[in-house]
Amino acid sequence: YKAKKGKLGYALYDPSMHAEVLERLRLENDMRRALEEEEFEVHYQPKVQLTTGAMTGVEALVRWRHPERGMISPGQFIPLAEDTGLIVPIGMWVLETACRQAKEWEALHPDSPPLMMAVNLSARQFRHPSLMEDILAALQRSGLEPHKLQLEVTESVVMDNSEHAIGVLRELRKLGVKSAMDDFGTGYSSLGYLKTLPLSNLKVDRSFVKGLGDNAEDSAIVRLVVDLAHTLGLKVTAEGVETAEQVAHLKEMGCDLGQGFYFSRPLASEAMTELLEAGVPLSGTV
Ligand code: C2E
Ligand code: MG
Ligand code: MG
Ligand code: MG
Repeated sequence: YKAKKGKLGYALYDPSMHAEVLERLRLENDMRRALEEEEFEVHYQPKVQLTTGAMTGVEALVRWRHPERGMISPGQFIPLAEDTGLIVPIGMWVLETACRQAKEWEALHPDSPPLMMAVNLSARQFRHPSLMEDILAALQRSGLEPHKLQLEVTESVVMDNSEHAIGVLRELRKLGVKSAMDDFGTGYSSLGYLKTLPLSNLKVDRSFVKGLGDNAEDSAIVRLVVDLAHTLGLKVTAEGVETAEQVAHLKEMGCDLGQGFYFSRPLASEAMTELLEAGVPLSGTV
């Protein structure tokens, strides 16, 4: 094809762009139907207390079982869901499903420490006017106690509109719901600002955990985040833990929790139920 250049110098008609737009439209259409058709699933990944190897929580991670395309990961549809606003009903469904599941699993898990259910919130969900109402509704309908729910938000979500963010985090705290800053270190948090945020957990981004041991800078950053979190009275979770060596470094640094393929991949609810029934620590390094 021959791209036609307009006055502004960009292609007015570009077949490849056309295909992209069509693809987006198709995906958006499919997504609108997917909730009704019950094509979404929530998978759960363990969070492990590094000193004991005990599972103390799980993170809910949404997947889309598309009838023609197979399993679609959130990275491939959350951004579009965010753009179209569909993330709000999808996110509400995830929240309620995760709360009900946590309530079901309580019977399989010793209550001390409680099994925490962590759910991700995107920017649009976080600033949606019905957020608090939706959270309360999910807690009430499931019967889950608020302190067993943790909401994960990224730095950009919190930094975007910090006044509003502080307000939301305060309300969550009043409810007794926990909150975590996700992917910490990848955004633009002001460290001074961090101390004013009513958070309960910092999650060190996996890009830093990756280099633990081999990379002096990454190791220094992880150590810094662990110390910073503890100084601020927060627990710290390392994400993307893949090797025993990383576990050893994290334990030496005093990191509280680990999450990653080393312990377990995200599991469908049936597989997670089996893991909870087995009740064994997830690390052989107790
Ligand atoms: P996240 O919240 O940082 O979740 C962790 C991601 O890292 C998950 O990817 C998980 O499968 C992956 N992961 C865990 N351990 C390892 C590891 O050892 N190595 C590597 N390479 N990866 C690991 P996933 O499930 O594809 O989710 C990607 C992102 O999509 C999440 O990042 C989160 O931001 C978003 N997301 C997932 N579920 C939801 C949801 O229900 N609502 C919203 N708003 N966002 C969601
Ligand atoms: Mg997360
Ligand atoms: Mg994360
Ligand atoms: Mg991440």
